[in-house]
Amino acid sequence: MSELLKFSLAQARNALRAKAISAKELAQAYIGAIERLNPKLNAFITLTPERALADAEKADARIAEGKAGALEGVPLAIKDLFCTHGIQTTAASKILAGFKPPYESFVTNRLWQAGAVMLGKTNLDEFAMGSSNTTSAFGNVINPWGSNLVPGGSSGGSAAAVAARLCLAATGTDTGGSIRQPASFCGIVGIKPTYGRCSRWGIVAFASSLDQAGMFARDVRDAAITQTVISGHDSKDSTSSPRPAPDFEKALTGNVKGLRIGIPEEYRVDGMDGEIAALWDKGIAWLKSAGAEVVDITLPHTKYALATYYIIAPAEASSNLARYDGIRYGLRVTPQSGALQDLYCETRAAGFGREVKRRIMIGTYVLSAGYYDAYYKKAQRVRYLIAQDFRNAFEKVDAILTPTAPSAAFAIGENTSDPIAMYLNDVFTVPTSLAGLPAISIPAGLSGKGLPLGLQII
Ligand code: GLN
Repeated sequence: MSELLKFSLAQARNALRAKAISAKELAQAYIGAIERLNPKLNAFITLTPERALADAEKADARIAEGKAGALEGVPLAIKDLFCTHGIQTTAASKILAGFKPPYESFVTNRLWQAGAVMLGKTNLDEFAMGSSNTTSAFGNVINPWGSNLVPGGSSGGSAAAVAARLCLAATGTDTGGSIRQPASFCGIVGIKPTYGRCSRWGIVAFASSLDQAGMFARDVRDAAITQTVISGHDSKDSTSSPRPAPDFEKALTGNVKGLRIGIPEEYRVDGMDGEIAALWDKGIAWLKSAGAEVVDITLPHTKYALATYYIIAPAEASSNLARYDGIRYGLRVTPQSGALQDLYCETRAAGFGREVKRRIMIGTYVLSAGYYDAYYKKAQRVRYLIAQDFRNAFEKVDAILTPTAPSAAFAIGENTSDPIAMYLNDVFTVPTSLAGLPAISIPAGLSGKGLPLGLQII
C-alpha cells in the first residue's frame, strides 16, 4: 500500500499545507487504490478520475498561493444520492437512468468550495431504502471485512470506501440509520447530525422529515473536520437551521469528566445478542473510568419506534417518489397502447426495484382515505411521544450511549427474503431519527468472529 494512503485526513491536510505532499500525488494514490480494489468491492457506481486530477491541480495551485481551504486537496467520495452538476446521479435506481443534474447539492458544493477532490459517486440501497446495500440496481457492495458480508446500508458504498482506504472521507445520508449502521458494520466513524444542521437541497429525497446528510471517516477528528464544512444554514431548505454551525474539530477536548451519560433500559431488547450486550457494558465501563457519570434512564416509547418509522418513512417516500413519472427525466418506457396512464405505469414498473415498490405501496396505503387516521396520524402522534421521551431524558443527562446495531455485518443474502428481519436492523437508530437528534457511531470492538461493532452516542 502506498504510504500516502496511511495518512488520516487530518494528517493529509497538514502535510498538504506544509507542501510535504502534493494534492496530485495524493489523488493519484487514491485513484490507484480504487482501480485495484473497487472491482472487488463495488463501492463506487461512477468514478471521476479526470475530475479528481483537475481538482487536485487546482488545490496545489491554491496551496502554493497560500489560499488553502479547509479541505484543500483532500480526496473524498460522494454517496450517489447527492446531485452533482453534470455527473450522473442514480440513487442506485434504474429509474434515474441518464440523469445528469443541472445543479450541485448544497453539501457537495460546500466540499468543493473548501478545496476537496472528487473521486466518484458511491453505491447505496436504491433510493436509500435498506440496511444492506443489496437493493442497489448496480449490484451489492462487499464489506472490506469479508467477501461474503454486506457493508450495511443504505450508505454501504461510502462506508466500504472509507474502510478500505479508497478515500479519506465520504458523504452519507441517514434517514433511519443509513450512516450509523454501515459505519458500525465497516468499523469506521459515521455521524448523523441534528435534523436541519445540513441542507437537504440537492439530495434525492426519501423521507423529507427524516433525511439528513452526514460524514463517514476513519476517526472522530476526521469526521469533525468534514462535518464542520458541510454544516450551516441554507435558505433553499426551509428546514435548515439558522443557528450558526460550531467548529466540531475545536470542540474535541477529549474530556468527558463530569458528563452525565444515560443508559436507556428499553434498549436492552429481548434476545439481545450477548456480544452486543458485552460491548455496551464495555463502553459504559470506559466512560466511567474516564470520569463520566453513568445514569439509568427510561425512554418508554422506544418499542413503538420501528413501527412508527416504517409508517412515516414510506408515507413520505410514496409522496416524494411520485415525481418519477417518465416524463421529465430518467427512464421512459413507451407503452404499446400509446396511453399516458400506461406510460406512467410501465415506466414505474420497470424503473423501481422490489423494495422501493414495497415502500411506495405501504406509504400509499397508510396515507389513503380510511387508513390515514389509523396509521399515518397515529404514527405522527407516537413520533411526538418518542421525541418527548428524549426531551425528558436530556433533562437528566448530556448524552446517551447505546449499541449502534443489533449485530455485526451479516452475510449477503441473509434477511433479503424477509423485509421485517431487515427492518429490525434499525431498532437502535430510528428513535433518534424520529426525534431529529444527532448521533454518532464509533468503532468500539470486534465480535467473536473478528468483525467490527459500533457504539452509538446520541
Ligand atoms: N434502513 C432504514 C430504511 O431502510 C434506514 C435507511 C436510511 O437511513 N436511509 O429505511
